[in-house]
Amino acid sequence: MHDEVLILGGGVAGCAASIALARKGRSVTLIEREPTPRHKVCGEFLSGEALEDLHALGIDVASLGAVPINYVRLAASRRAAEAPLPFPAASLTRKALDAALIAAAISAGVRVERGRSVQSLNRAAGNVWRATLDDGTTYEAPTAFLATGKHDLRGHGRPKDPHQWVGFKMYYRLSAAQTAALADASELTLYAGGYGGIQPVEDGVTNFCCVVQRKYFARAGLRWDALLAKMQQDCPHLAMRLDGAEPLLDKPITITHIPYGYLRRATEDGLYCIGDQAAVIPSFTGDGISIALHTAHHAATAYLASEPAPVFQPKLRSAMLPQMRLAELAADGLNNALARAVLPFCLRIWPGAMRVTARMTRVTQPATIAPQAFAN
Ligand SMILES: Cc1cc2nc3c(=O)[nH]c(=O)nc-3n(C[C@H](O)[C@H](O)[C@H](O)COP(=O)(O)OP(=O)(O)OC[C@H]3O[C@@H](n4cnc5c(N)ncnc54)[C@H](O)[C@@H]3O)c2cc1C
Repeated sequence: MHDEVLILGGGVAGCAASIALARKGRSVTLIEREPTPRHKVCGEFLSGEALEDLHALGIDVASLGAVPINYVRLAASRRAAEAPLPFPAASLTRKALDAALIAAAISAGVRVERGRSVQSLNRAAGNVWRATLDDGTTYEAPTAFLATGKHDLRGHGRPKDPHQWVGFKMYYRLSAAQTAALADASELTLYAGGYGGIQPVEDGVTNFCCVVQRKYFARAGLRWDALLAKMQQDCPHLAMRLDGAEPLLDKPITITHIPYGYLRRATEDGLYCIGDQAAVIPSFTGDGISIALHTAHHAATAYLASEPAPVFQPKLRSAMLPQMRLAELAADGLNNALARAVLPFCLRIWPGAMRVTARMTRVTQPATIAPQAFAN
C-alpha cells in the first residue's frame, strides 16, 4: 500500500504530525497498535505550550473535561511549598486526550489503521520505507515518521537507561478533605530514589504518577504496595494526601526503560523521528506532551518545506539541547539528598524560585529556531 507519508505510532506526536500533513493535502497512513486508546503512564499535566498546540490542532481540552491547574507545590519530607504557575496549565487523562487526537486525525483525512503493530521498518527497493506489520501486511511510502513513543523498533532503538527508571501511574479518589486541600495544584513529591506527581484529572479523579530508580524499587521488594508505603514514609505529605484514598485501578500501570535526557542525533533519509523518539525530558517538567507536539509540528513543517530528515534532526537536537541539559540538572538536584532537604525551605522563603525553574525548564524553544531552520 502506497502513501506519501507513513506514520508509525498514533499517540500525541504521531497524531499531531498526521493532522498537520493531512491538512496540507498529503496522503497519510497512521498505524497504531492499540485498537482503542488506553491508560498510559503519564502525569497528565498539560503545560501552556501544550494547550496552545492542542488548540491549534482543534482539540478543545475544556470540553473533554480537563481540569485547570494554577499552582505547583513541592513536597519533601514533611515540608511543602507552593507557587502560582507562571503559565496556564491543565490536566486531562491520556485516554481522553489520545482519543480526541485520533478522532481529529480521522477527520483531517488521515487513514488510521488501529490495533495493528509495526514489527519492522526497513528501506526497500525504490527508495521507500517499508513497515511490516504483525500480520505480515506491508505498507510503503517515501517518507516515514517514527512516533512509537517509549517503544523502540528494532534497528531504530535508543540507548539503554543507565538508572533503570521505573514509572508507575495509579488513579485514586481522594477523601473529600484531601481533594479540597489538593485543589487546583500539581504537587511534586520527592523521595530518595525518585519523585512523583499528584494532581486532579477529570471526573473528580486524582492521578498519582511516579518514577523511581530500580534500586529504590528493589529496596521495597519490587512490590507496588511496599513501594507506596516506602514513598509515604519518605514523604509524609504524600501519606497525608493518600489517607483514606480509594485506588481506582486493580494495579498501577508501569513502564521501564525511560532514557531521560535522550536527544536523537541523526536519522536516515526520509525518516523523521518525533516525540519520545526524538527527545525524552525528565518527567517532573511536565513537558513531554508539549515536546511531542512541537517536534511533530516542526518535523511536518520541515517535510513540507522539503528539508531532508538528516538535516532536520540534528537542528532539532541543537535547539533543544540547552534546556534539556538544564532539566536534567534540575532532576539531579531533586534526587540529591541535600537539595531535597533545603529546597522546600528555600522555596518557602522565595516561592518565586519555583516560577523561575518552571520557566527555565520549558523545552519548547525549537519554535524560536523555526524561521531559520525551516526557511530553506
Ligand atoms: C512517569 C512519566 C510521567 C510523565 N508525565 C508527563 C506529564 O505530566 N506531562 C507531560 O507533558 N508529559 C509527561 N510525560 C511524558 C509524555 O508522556 C511523553 O513524552 C509523550 O507521551 C510522548 O508522546 P509520543 O507521541 O512520543 O508517545 P506516545 O504518546 O506514548 O505514543 C506512542 C504511540 O505509539 C504506539 N506504538 C508503539 N509501538 C508501536 C508499534 N510497534 N506499532 C504501532 N504503534 C506503536 C503506542 O501504542 C502509542 O500510542 C511523562 C512520562 C513519564 C514516563
